[in-house]
Amino acid sequence: MLNSAEKISYEKIEKDAIQIWKECLSIIKENIPFISYSTWFLPIKPAEFNGTTLKVYVPSNYFIEWIEEHYNTLLNKTVNQVIGETGKLVYLILDEKENFKDDITHVVSQLETKENKQSEPVEKEFESGLISKYTFDNFIKGEGNQLARAAAYAIGENPGQTSFNPLFIYGGVGLGKTHLIHAIGNKILEKYPDKRVIYISSDAFTVEFVEAIQSNTVNEFSNFYKNMDALIIDDIQFLVGKEKTQDLFFHIFNTLHQSGKQIILSSDRSPKELKGLSDRLVSRFLWGLQTDIQPPDLETRIAILKNKSESYGINLSREILEYIAHNITSNIRELEGCLVKLLANASLTNREIDFDLVKRTVKEVSTTKQVNISIELITKTVCEHFDIEENKLREKNRRKEIVLARQIAMYLSKQLTKSSLKTIGLHFGGRDHSTVIHAQTSIEEMILSDLKLKETIESIKNKIEMTVG
Ligand code: ADP
Ligand code: MG
Repeated sequence: MLNSAEKISYEKIEKDAIQIWKECLSIIKENIPFISYSTWFLPIKPAEFNGTTLKVYVPSNYFIEWIEEHYNTLLNKTVNQVIGETGKLVYLILDEKENFKDDITHVVSQLETKENKQSEPVEKEFESGLISKYTFDNFIKGEGNQLARAAAYAIGENPGQTSFNPLFIYGGVGLGKTHLIHAIGNKILEKYPDKRVIYISSDAFTVEFVEAIQSNTVNEFSNFYKNMDALIIDDIQFLVGKEKTQDLFFHIFNTLHQSGKQIILSSDRSPKELKGLSDRLVSRFLWGLQTDIQPPDLETRIAILKNKSESYGINLSREILEYIAHNITSNIRELEGCLVKLLANASLTNREIDFDLVKRTVKEVSTTKQVNISIELITKTVCEHFDIEENKLREKNRRKEIVLARQIAMYLSKQLTKSSLKTIGLHFGGRDHSTVIHAQTSIEEMILSDLKLKETIESIKNKIEMTVG
């Protein structure tokens, strides 16, 4: 006769490690917050089961320590319930190359509960946050995005294995940064379905962090990210001024980087221009590859429009494509916006898309934007960028950096608003219209030879345009 414990073990002998571990997971999941569950238990993989002993692979010793310290009781209960009171759990530690290194036994204390839980299918670990429509296939190559795309593609193929770690993609709004970094994530998962990839904007990251502080789960929060194979953070510029979040991110960055995990970041400006970000973070951003995305040239704009319109199921003539691409030059989001507006206009008025409608739509799209940009906004953005007080631009201050900032603000006011020279002059301490002209020509001359200045102005301009959306 088998005693009851033997009987339970005997029944379990048939089941393989995967099934047993699944059952364990379903109990664990019920008993702890999801983030703890996905941080500490989902990375554990079943190895073997011999009827009484379940061997599982864990990523590191640290893992075991944490689990044993925090979830000892839960583990006892789980092992007792699933395997029975003679059940044993043995951890096998994997080193970085996934070779077996060591084993450690979890000592199960005997518990009363023996009832058996039915197994449930394991749910998806966590939301990757990736948008599946953003792929390399529908990302049009062009001169402006060539390097960024090539690096992104290489990482998608071999995450953590290239020298592009971190990959830092920067550039103006609507140029394809978000698309490209999603494409990397999607590619990694396509090639390596088991890898843990997560996409998050730096804003959402900050919000989650604050919530973690409030609910006392900062450790779980940070460990969740430290356990990724690829961490993708969009719009990292929003970490500027958020020192606590930066600190935490710094530690996550180090852990991931040290263990050869891939980090991918996007920003509206280059690392060096990220004023208000700690130096130690900026210096780490420089470890890998920083590459920008430039506004698309005419041919690329046409190709993107063609591709997009075809995806909507319409065929636009070359003439129409060229007209739109000639007139909307700033970024791809606007190109898309124009196309959508064109479709809307056509369906609203129940008209074919003819040249006349295209012209009207382009005009509509390109004027709405300028109305929203004010000289105040320009002044504010320029001053923020150079970290100077706004009234300095209105005073008679002749310090070199103030003069430059003032001239840039005037130049951008002329470019981005419909204000007259006179109005612009008035905004900057009642200066004469000839001063505005002078500012304009000086900047135009300077950016011909000073590439850095040109980039700075582009980045300020992008920031302004982003603010008005
Ligand atoms: P960013 O993050 O730089 O502001 P997005 O990645 O959001 O820009 O791109 C804006 C829109 O333009 C998205 O819909 C994206 O799919 C599209 N887009 C950008 N670059 C390309 C490209 N090279 N090919 C096709 N679509 C693109
Ligand atoms: Mg974006």
